[in-house]
Amino acid sequence: MSATNRLLACVLLLVSGIASAAPVQVQGVRIATALDQTRVALDLSRPAEHKLFTLSDPHRVVIDIMPGRINGALPLPIGDGAVRKIRSANRKDGSVRIVLDLDRPMKAKSFGLAANGEHGDRLVVDLAPVGSKAAARTTPRLQVDRAAGREIVVAIDAGHGGKDPGARGPTGVREKDVVLKMSRRLAEIIDADPNMRAYLTRSNDKFVNLRDRMERSRSVKADLFISMHADAFSDRRVRGATVYVLSSKGVADEAARRLAKRENEALIGGIELAEQEDAVAKLLMELSQDAALSSSIDIGDEILKEIRQITKVRKQRVQQAPFLVLKSPDVPSLLIETAFISNPNDEKNLASVQYRDRFARAVYSGVTDYFRANPPPGTLLANAQRSRPTQTAELQHVIRRGETLSAIASRYHVPVRRIQSVNNLRGDKIVVGKVLRIPATQDI
Ligand SMILES: [Zn+2]
Repeated sequence: MSATNRLLACVLLLVSGIASAAPVQVQGVRIATALDQTRVALDLSRPAEHKLFTLSDPHRVVIDIMPGRINGALPLPIGDGAVRKIRSANRKDGSVRIVLDLDRPMKAKSFGLAANGEHGDRLVVDLAPVGSKAAARTTPRLQVDRAAGREIVVAIDAGHGGKDPGARGPTGVREKDVVLKMSRRLAEIIDADPNMRAYLTRSNDKFVNLRDRMERSRSVKADLFISMHADAFSDRRVRGATVYVLSSKGVADEAARRLAKRENEALIGGIELAEQEDAVAKLLMELSQDAALSSSIDIGDEILKEIRQITKVRKQRVQQAPFLVLKSPDVPSLLIETAFISNPNDEKNLASVQYRDRFARAVYSGVTDYFRANPPPGTLLANAQRSRPTQTAELQHVIRRGETLSAIASRYHVPVRRIQSVNNLRGDKIVVGKVLRIPATQDI
């Protein structure tokens, strides 16, 4: 190729690179309300260009992000103030449009917030009543927190990433990709629960070392740390999910030892094996006084109960293994091998949006079942349980637009599966206008 041609080729590459700049992914939404103000935070994959305008009859706020994309619908968190419903659509011009349907006229202003240790890049929309003197100057979230308690923070750790692809399936599906997608979905589901907040140790395809994953989780004061992985084995028939907690007594199960070795190697990257075994030994000693271990096992049991309903489980009990990533003595920590990516069936499941959603919901249900029974002191959940009167009779709830089963369950402090069972519901589809039976709390 001549020098001129080469230069031209470079220029063309550059141009096409710009034209196909990856769209901003809208990954989730959180809403906080205080007094008459509402703050809507959209979680983005990177800072975004956007336009914002309001419309009346019916009242709504429109946000266009360009270039932008959204996968699936945004859930409407409860505690939603003036926002009745959130709609979103990918548009032909490469933008994504988010519409907030309001129940009354509000003025809106927006600003970007850069990623910090706790959240990624966000676009914040503050809504204040029309005619109010003060614009939404304060942080509604903080006011809410002080009044009623804090949210339970769940750190979700998508395994591997960047230069470390993790395991690979028969058709080439990579562990680092599917566990990231599964983790993001889990984070969305958790963020839709007003009592909880998710923190992702990595939100994109980058390498994060082990120490940083743990330190980040500790810095956001996580109540629970869940590391998401997919297993692999030379025998492709082996399949199913496994839930691990860190062992403080060494490992009884040879498979768990092999697995821990493989995950640790991948996670540590360039560290020599001898050094690594030292690290594991040291870790085991440090953890001999691990007070969080029994909580970890209890949470793991709840998660296993849920996962068992949607997929094959390799071990019926929570397993113990010396995973380095779980070294967080003060925080209950779990490692979930979501499936065997080396099994063609499991690989197909991991690559499926629907399956990942079902799996993430199962994990969420297990986590909420645990925390409802054991709410950490000072949390919204703990305070709500303390202040709520015992509900002795069955109630009825008419499903309104925008409500989700998990939001309703949370409002009445009833496990989702109890509502499902008394109403003969399979899955979590609910119909607007239908009457749900809400079981009495003493029956739960
Ligand atoms: Zn892994």
